Amino acid sequence: MTAAIAGTVLVLNSGSSSIKFQLVHPETAESVAHGLIERIGEPEGRIVFHHTTGFEEHLGAITDHRSGLRMVLDMIEGLGRPLREAGIVAVGHRLVHGGEVFHEPTLIDDAVVQAVADLSVLAPLHNPANVIGMEVAREELPDIPHVGVFDTAFFHDMPAAATTYAIDRDIAREHGIRRYGFHGTSHDYVSQRAAAFLGRDRADLNIIVFHLGNGASASAIAGGRPIDTSMGLTPLEGLVMGTRCGDIDPGVVMHLNRSAGLRVDAIDDLLNRRSGLKGMSGVNDFRALLRLVADGSEDAKLAYDVYVHRLRRYLGAYLVELGGVDAVVFTGGVGENNADVRRDALAGLGRLGIVVDPEANATRADTERRISAPGSEVEVLVIPTDEELAIARAADALAKSLPR
Ligand code: AMP
Repeated sequence: MTAAIAGTVLVLNSGSSSIKFQLVHPETAESVAHGLIERIGEPEGRIVFHHTTGFEEHLGAITDHRSGLRMVLDMIEGLGRPLREAGIVAVGHRLVHGGEVFHEPTLIDDAVVQAVADLSVLAPLHNPANVIGMEVAREELPDIPHVGVFDTAFFHDMPAAATTYAIDRDIAREHGIRRYGFHGTSHDYVSQRAAAFLGRDRADLNIIVFHLGNGASASAIAGGRPIDTSMGLTPLEGLVMGTRCGDIDPGVVMHLNRSAGLRVDAIDDLLNRRSGLKGMSGVNDFRALLRLVADGSEDAKLAYDVYVHRLRRYLGAYLVELGGVDAVVFTGGVGENNADVRRDALAGLGRLGIVVDPEANATRADTERRISAPGSEVEVLVIPTDEELAIARAADALAKSLPR
């Protein structure tokens, strides 16, 4: 087992109440171990740990991120040698908000940790958890490079017309209010894989990516460079998500405050955690939503229709912004697995050169695949995302570039 760990990158995704981790060989993409700590801070925490020879589950309270992460590192150590001697070559940290500051994989030092902490005002749920992840991992693995890969980085150079909110420019500048975009690692990875699948250079392609998971976002990518994306200052804007509302008239916020008497934290909770599919139907998981639709729930059917309507609105906008598209790509738990959403999002678009092949679309697989009909001008692809691998590769590349 120790030999299998040697040469891997440890990828850490330290979220608001969960931590995902993976040990992966950056070149071969072989995953040696992966797992999830969830419900941190709740009475019923859970750790799931998969490795090449088995699977472990631990139930019980996990007080905080620090103790959760230490438990994970202990479990990794339990596979073989002491952690520091196991041959891990780098740690790749998924960091959510890089603000205006970070736009490429970054070697983590004290100043970077502080800068990510300072950006917490823009991502109060995520950046503080990211900071703890960096602190603990650097304490436990002090002798190898730690690399931050930012969710916002891919979108850093989008045109100003796409990143600027039409509000008072001085207030916007003073408070960093602009559109940043998120899920960048996934949009970048998936669009690269799409070009490779088509045997084309990404620089020659216009691609629209729909990353549809619990969080969901769309992007318009021209020649490898994003020109627009659906998430904004925070990951709340854009598509309908599991628990987030996506686009909404900001007037709703004032109305909730003035007429419903809700204060800002309650509105934050409402729009981030109790809206989207969950708000409209009672469930945030897409499979559960489809079961409700099948059982005749009108609320669930409306939620599904709103979800698809929003997808089509973004598709139309991005088709025009790009002036035509070579490929539409679906990824994320819903995008990779749900044929109905893909069919309905692209239904009736033959005049725009987009025709889905019903049989290819309905065929289940976990591989990269084409689901457009043979005559479709636009390629429609399903490309499984792999943010961990993308982060591992970025961390490994930066680690290798450092002077020894
Ligand atoms: P992610 O955040 O990418 O892990 O995606 C989570 C979402 O994908 C949840 O809403 C799941 O219900 C959905 N999902 C996962 N597998 C399937 C499936 N086989 N069919 C439909 N939705 C799925």
